[in-house]
Amino acid sequence: MTYGFDTLAIHAGQEPDPRTGAVVPPIFQTSTYAQDAVGAPRLGYEYSRTTNPTRDALQDCLAALEGGRVGLAFASGMAAEDTLLRTVCRPGDHVVIPNDAYGGTFRLFSKVAERWGLSFTPAHLSNVDDARAAFQDNTRIVWVETPTNPLLGIADIAALSQAAHDNNALLVVDNTFASPYLQQPLALGADVVVHSTTKYVGGHSDVVGGALILNDDDLASSLRYHQNAMGAVGGPFDAWLTLRGLRTLAVRMERHCDNAERVAEYLSRHPRVTSVLYPGLPEHPGHETATKQMRRFGGMVSFRVADERAAIAVCNRARLFTLGESLGGVESLIEHPGRMTHASAAGSALEVPGDLVRLSVGIETVDDLLADLEQALA
Ligand SMILES: *Cc1c(COP(=O)(O)O)cnc(C)c1O
Repeated sequence: MTYGFDTLAIHAGQEPDPRTGAVVPPIFQTSTYAQDAVGAPRLGYEYSRTTNPTRDALQDCLAALEGGRVGLAFASGMAAEDTLLRTVCRPGDHVVIPNDAYGGTFRLFSKVAERWGLSFTPAHLSNVDDARAAFQDNTRIVWVETPTNPLLGIADIAALSQAAHDNNALLVVDNTFASPYLQQPLALGADVVVHSTTKYVGGHSDVVGGALILNDDDLASSLRYHQNAMGAVGGPFDAWLTLRGLRTLAVRMERHCDNAERVAEYLSRHPRVTSVLYPGLPEHPGHETATKQMRRFGGMVSFRVADERAAIAVCNRARLFTLGESLGGVESLIEHPGRMTHASAAGSALEVPGDLVRLSVGIETVDDLLADLEQALA
């Protein structure tokens, strides 16, 4: 019997506690475990960097929701990315990354990984030919985000997975913006899915975390080894909070999408807005691909105004949209990517336009959100 997504979000990895019947998986706030005899840890639990039952519950649920065999949870999205890179790559390898990658991902490649001998090429991944042109003989990973942050570009996961595999590279998809509810990259040919669970998965802006989900058993055991050997794991309470958020992912995402669609429509009719970047709009260049690989189009909307001054003014005037970094929580956020989340990409190939504003549309009453944008743009 295979359950639907909404059922798995609530039950996968979350059987009632066998001892007490507690419906919610307990927070196993422990660093170590009593062993029955030397070399005989109970159920394999020895030390919480290696395994912890609360983290196991989260990992199993994430794996089920992405349609993967194995899930691994980390202290942050960046910790998950770093562990993946250092497990898969060695000095001399090359990686293709999106030319509008998440700022922190770009910083990891340009300021950290490059010093350890990993080279990278930013490419326009919504065009598969541009992606292929960036491949080298030593390309080990093609790193994809779709939708991208903050420009909401769409990449064709199935086509890129074919291209990556033709080149003996792995296709890694950062699925943070879509969440597993809207898009399941493994079914489209991706080898590894990356999440910042800080965003839609946790969904309440109260915990930082990351995850990797995959099907390949050999790579999974190597990643599990590095998860323990490198130690970038979150604590049991973090796992518990993330799992608490994850249970309502399906209903939250539906409302995020409802509200974002209304916001995108409203902005596209506003005289002060020069363009709206939302894959749900028919004029978006990635609309067709997004329709093919996503259930709906998500809660992130970016838009451009006359110039940088106007963009900053809109961000400063918004009230209900809180001025802040991050995304994917129940509350709406507004930010200026050029000066905030993507400031570290200034002067690089990944610099974002100064007239750009990014919204993380929350699940509040949509009319209140539209009214706030109306006054902020006035
Ligand atoms: C936030 C984010 C990350 C990094 O995750 P952290 O949990 O902040 O370390 C990676 N990719 C994307 C797309 C993100 O939005």
